Amino acid sequence: MFAYFRTIHTGPGSPLDYPQLRINNYSENPLDNASRSSPRPDQEPPEFMTVHTLKLGGNQGFRYCSKCSCWKPDRTHHCSKSGKCILKMDHYCPWFSICIGYFNYKFFVQFLCYTAIYCWVVFGVSVKILYDIFATDKYQEEYISINLILVCVLSLTFGFSLTLFALFSLYMISKNTTTIEFQEQRWNYRGADRYNYEFDANGKQKKLTNIFDLGRKQNFKEVFGESWGAWLLPISVTEKVANLGFKNGINFKINEEVYKKWCTNAELQNQLNEQLSNFKDRVRRERESYVEV
Ligand SMILES: [Zn+2]
Repeated sequence: MFAYFRTIHTGPGSPLDYPQLRINNYSENPLDNASRSSPRPDQEPPEFMTVHTLKLGGNQGFRYCSKCSCWKPDRTHHCSKSGKCILKMDHYCPWFSICIGYFNYKFFVQFLCYTAIYCWVVFGVSVKILYDIFATDKYQEEYISINLILVCVLSLTFGFSLTLFALFSLYMISKNTTTIEFQEQRWNYRGADRYNYEFDANGKQKKLTNIFDLGRKQNFKEVFGESWGAWLLPISVTEKVANLGFKNGINFKINEEVYKKWCTNAELQNQLNEQLSNFKDRVRRERESYVEV
């Protein structure tokens, strides 16, 4: 119950919680629908955000949300249901009627795990009572409570679905990915992670691991904290302090090895582009000289 309370009370966290991430000036009024071109912020995002930001917007500038008038750190998404940007957004949960994001993810997963365990305990107890009734022929003398049958069926169905959901969430934590990123990686529908590939010994292209994947153990600690106490109890291991470390939902540690490979790929890609444009130039010049002759 306390994990449930903390999930809602703490909330997922939003860039709007940080005054430094708000955008006050636009080159055009964002509310002016008459202008077709989208407004550009007239200011730069704060340095504590930019030093760690990997993902850029379509025009190669830092990502921002014109609906919320704020900068979007990595892993932030605008939630249409709650109407604002959510840090490390996972999903909108209709059972909680709130978004699950950076600050309440741990409590949410603890809630799932504890509720799943509770359901199996209740299922075990109710099955035991029902078994005793049928084994001792008690059912011939007295009525069986409908509540008992209901609790047995409900605990089984909820236990089953909550266990699946808890296992899925723990798997996501082990990979340091959110449900949204998981879908993006599966479909790659936005062409994100342009340089996220390498070639194996046979020359076959394969995808690199997620850039935020720090190894299973560290990934778990990033969400649940360092100690047993923090793993089991709904204690906060995050801080809403803008420019302090990696506990604020704005800055994330990255896998250095993957990052190096990204950089190499980007460099190679640039070289290739340069060579291509040189080649095109040469062909054009040759054609022109041909025409002159
Ligand atoms: Zn937004």
